[in-house]
Amino acid sequence: MADDVTILGAGLAGCCLAWQLKARGAAVRLVSERRSGEASRVAAGLVNPVTGKNYQPSWRIAEFLPESTAFFERAGREIGTTLWFPHPVVRLVAEKEWPKVARKLERPDVARWVERVEEDADGWRARVILKGGGRVDARAFCEATEKKWGAEGGERGGGRVVRCGGAFDLMDRKLGEHRCAKGEILTLRIPEADGSRILVGGGGWLVPVGDGLFKAGATYEWDELDGTPTAAGRARVEGILKALGIRGFEVVAHEAGVRPIIRRSMPLIGETGGEVVFNGLGSKGSLYAPGVARRLAEWLVDGAEIEEELEVGRWLECG
Ligand SMILES: Cc1cc2nc3c(=O)[nH]c(=O)nc-3n(C[C@H](O)[C@H](O)[C@H](O)COP(=O)(O)OP(=O)(O)OC[C@H]3O[C@@H](n4cnc5c(N)ncnc54)[C@H](O)[C@@H]3O)c2cc1C
Repeated sequence: MADDVTILGAGLAGCCLAWQLKARGAAVRLVSERRSGEASRVAAGLVNPVTGKNYQPSWRIAEFLPESTAFFERAGREIGTTLWFPHPVVRLVAEKEWPKVARKLERPDVARWVERVEEDADGWRARVILKGGGRVDARAFCEATEKKWGAEGGERGGGRVVRCGGAFDLMDRKLGEHRCAKGEILTLRIPEADGSRILVGGGGWLVPVGDGLFKAGATYEWDELDGTPTAAGRARVEGILKALGIRGFEVVAHEAGVRPIIRRSMPLIGETGGEVVFNGLGSKGSLYAPGVARRLAEWLVDGAEIEEELEVGRWLECG
């Protein structure tokens, strides 16, 4: 169908698509602009199998998680660095949440991700230790991919053009209504913290990133959609740290980005208005970008059908 593709945008969407197209023998030009608020450059890369207040397994996680980890392990080997860091995810449960969480833990689709439960731990009603999670070094992946296949400036190659512009495209109303959310995140040095696990609780998380450093976040803000860190955002992340019981930290960096959200973290691909798009990774780009990029590459190169649930045209018709 197309063996010459220009990708606009080198975040997780565009970079995963570049790898998947290359693996299918396509010629790829990856064109990206540096902008304030690029999500993949600030993301913690956390993959948490069971998320949110509702303790819900992520959408189709059993299918997308193994593909994502295998993809980043393979890409890391090819680049010569580690991109996927498996870690237990320790979910801290407060007394008032416990009845709901305890009921959820009995469901087989939740129980399969639970390593063990420790009750009455460190002032929390319970600590649920989840397996299968970890961290993707999204920034290193995007930078290395751009170096490998990036093109200078805005010059386009021939063939099909695929828009992978994240929140920037959505804010231009390229796909109708959106729910993009700004997120602020701190990078911290915490000498006393345990760097072998991811902590989730108090409305946020703490993710080890190596060398005694951690990322903590993240805020959600729907009005000011820009890449500017704010004092209020920093205070909110510091509130999360307090709730997690983290003290004695030094702030090394404070960043902000905009999550490309259309319908939670369920992405969309395909053709609309004469353009091919890949967008809507939401808060879970690390989990979904590789598998969704593969489907788009198979459509572009082999003419394989895009499944209804991911097809942008169908969503725009029905939504
Ligand atoms: C604070 C924060 C924390 C997060 N934490 C996590 C996490 O722990 N785990 C997780 O899985 N996800 C996380 N996310 C979400 C994750 O970052 C996104 O799902 C993902 O990065 C989106 O990738 P993308 O490629 O669609 O968009 P982006 O990463 O924003 O990339 C789009 C790129 O396109 C470029 N561009 C735009 N228009 C054009 C154009 N016309 N021409 C050329 N280039 C263009 C932009 O400059 C940008 O580089 C977080 C996000 C934020 C903001």
